[in-house]
Amino acid sequence: MNFDGFVLSDELKMLRKMVKDFIRDEVIPLEEDLDFEATHIQKEKLSQLQEKAKRAGLYQYSVPRKFGGQGLSIFARTIIAEEASQHKLGAYNPALGAFGESPPDILYNGSKRQIERFVYPTLEGKRSGFIAITEPSGGSDPARSIHTRAEKTRNKWVLNGQKVFITGADTADYGIVFARTGEGRQGITAFIVEKGMKGFSHQLIPVIRSWYPCELFFDHVEVPEENILGEVGHGFEYVQKWLIGNRIPYAAGCIGIATAALKKAIEYANIRETFGSKLADKQAIQWMIADSEIELRAARWLTYEAAWKADLGENARYEASSAKLYATEAAGRIMDRVIQIYGGMGLTKELPFERWFRELRIKRVGEGPSEVHRMLISRDLLSGKRKL
Ligand SMILES: Cc1cc2nc3c(=O)[nH]c(=O)nc-3n(C[C@H](O)[C@H](O)[C@H](O)COP(=O)(O)OP(=O)(O)OC[C@H]3O[C@@H](n4cnc5c(N)ncnc54)[C@H](O)[C@@H]3O)c2cc1C
Repeated sequence: MNFDGFVLSDELKMLRKMVKDFIRDEVIPLEEDLDFEATHIQKEKLSQLQEKAKRAGLYQYSVPRKFGGQGLSIFARTIIAEEASQHKLGAYNPALGAFGESPPDILYNGSKRQIERFVYPTLEGKRSGFIAITEPSGGSDPARSIHTRAEKTRNKWVLNGQKVFITGADTADYGIVFARTGEGRQGITAFIVEKGMKGFSHQLIPVIRSWYPCELFFDHVEVPEENILGEVGHGFEYVQKWLIGNRIPYAAGCIGIATAALKKAIEYANIRETFGSKLADKQAIQWMIADSEIELRAARWLTYEAAWKADLGENARYEASSAKLYATEAAGRIMDRVIQIYGGMGLTKELPFERWFRELRIKRVGEGPSEVHRMLISRDLLSGKRKL
């Protein structure tokens, strides 16, 4: 699948339509009964949904073909993320869960035994994993702020330290934990830590979204040598690669939510009246709608450009940072305007906007805060690496 100038290929158009129809027909009706703070569709209903996703050919679409998945391109994943987030629980997307939980991408590089023990059981829905990079000393600059230490003793490694804000660690039964085995960037190693290992514990951290991440504690946790993922000292490379690949669909998810909100605001402006005329007749509202649409389109093109370049196999770090930065910030501004257009109703839990607003706020911090992406972009420009 590819991106053909300003027009999506027929395949991508078809994929977009399939996902749009699936969300409208299968996911949105299930959300009607969910309470305001729900984080997931109930297990039984989710299993039925997953069966339907399998039949629709939408299941485990990002899993490489080698592992029995569809191995879709980043562009295709971007289109899916854009469509699949357009519903109430969309920002932390159970719909994508419906399309199949995939192992963390980094795991595909594991040893044969790791693939058997973690990749296949995750694909079969029997296991799930988390990724633990951030520590109390910081997440923006992991090369410096990872202090969790792993010391080698004969055929084991002993982990001591702490992680914070780790999504899914309360329910997952293993995780990829980045720990320090030496100095600097070459001193970080990825370990697979399993639930039940002595000295490993967690607690939830209440945050702005209903789905709470965890704090993790490692107190002399003994990890066997065979649980080292990749090579000792190469963990930071894996982190970087994973983060860059993730940023593009991450941006697309935010675009999807903002698109869904703006559509509703346009409908509402055409029916709601104040001071004897429709909101749609008032210039203040027209400008909010116009600005939002332009920002949405700009975000979409930046994201498509990043996906296109990444699929060519080129280094798309600059484009991924631009897309992540712009899409997350634009989506936040758009949601704020949509709430303003809806007035008091926009702030009720009956409508999805306040939830989307809270969840979108995280997106400017997660996957690298906006300031870090601005730093990366300006660094390339100021050094001449990137020419205008
Ligand atoms: C809900 C949630 C889920 C998360 N899930 C995960 C997860 O699953 N796994 C995981 O490892 N992490 C996860 N995180 C952590 C997230 O990735 C970090 O919060 C993020 O990387 C920022 O790190 P920090 O919070 O330590 O902020 P810090 O690194 O302390 O930075 C604080 C602030 O300083 C500013 N700043 C930083 N660097 C610069 C700079 N160079 N120039 C100017 N300003 C700067 C930014 O405004 C930044 O927000 C999650 C966080 C949240 C809130």
